[in-house]
Amino acid sequence: MRRKVRGRNLFSAQLVCEGHPYRKEKNTLGQGVVGLDIGPSTAAVVAAQEARLTQFCAELKPQERQIRLLQRKLDRQRRANNPENYHANGTVKLGAKQWKRSKRSQDSLDQLREIQRRLAAHRKSLHGRLVNEIVELGNVFKLEKLSYRAFQKEFGRSVGLRAPGGFVSELRRKAESAGGKVIEFPIRNTRLSQRCHCGQVHKKRLSERWQGCACGVFAQRDLYSAFLARFVEQETNQLHAGQAAEAWTGAEPLLRTAWQQAVTNQPASGRSNPSSFGATRSWSGSSVEGEIACTKARDVVAYPLGTAKARER
Ligand SMILES: [Zn+2]
Repeated sequence: MRRKVRGRNLFSAQLVCEGHPYRKEKNTLGQGVVGLDIGPSTAAVVAAQEARLTQFCAELKPQERQIRLLQRKLDRQRRANNPENYHANGTVKLGAKQWKRSKRSQDSLDQLREIQRRLAAHRKSLHGRLVNEIVELGNVFKLEKLSYRAFQKEFGRSVGLRAPGGFVSELRRKAESAGGKVIEFPIRNTRLSQRCHCGQVHKKRLSERWQGCACGVFAQRDLYSAFLARFVEQETNQLHAGQAAEAWTGAEPLLRTAWQQAVTNQPASGRSNPSSFGATRSWSGSSVEGEIACTKARDVVAYPLGTAKARER
């Protein structure tokens, strides 16, 4: 195999073994159904006895900016080295062309590949850590099928950065190799982020981080979706609202605790929690009737596709 590391080619032999990998004791599956809600910046996990709300690959964010800057630099260099390949208005000419690459441009490319390689390795380790935490909580994992396109529409590049699809495959691989399973259901059937287990539907924008309902249910949105996901039936892909209602009294304190831990635990990098946690608000059921809190999820919408592109032009 050839890998480029810090601009130099490294060759290594890859040994592929057949069989089942050794599994560490601590990575064995738990028991029971676990509901998940995976968003571009948060991951909510709810089991019968435990709930967690964490940032989804937040540590990767600074590297994204570096990548974007380098990509722009490369584009400028490519244009400067090959003016004959462009029309006056900046678009690329059609047909066969020769592309010249300067030494500096090659350096930028090597630099870019190095950052991307490190990012991929970092992401893999973050995904692996989160998957290990999740598989401890149960053996059946339920979540809405992530629509990569919908994510991309909403979040542009930060989706590719976090690779939620890759995360789900990793979860599936680990769960299945240990005898568990991952169940994904189509979002059009469930729309968990819009529903309350009392049957009401509340359309929300993504920036609305709280689920509040006249029936008295009040919870952080991602945690509540993950809670509901536990009660989606595999055969019909429908939410079993009766079961959810029954479990709610026991689950509410778990969700509340998970949210409190999420907003009080400072992340390792020392940066603040994403606003998608809804941290600017307090968790109290009393204010449901008045206003359903609407905290702007700045972190989540930091890179809409349009603006990133617009800036590049
Ligand atoms: Zn309700």
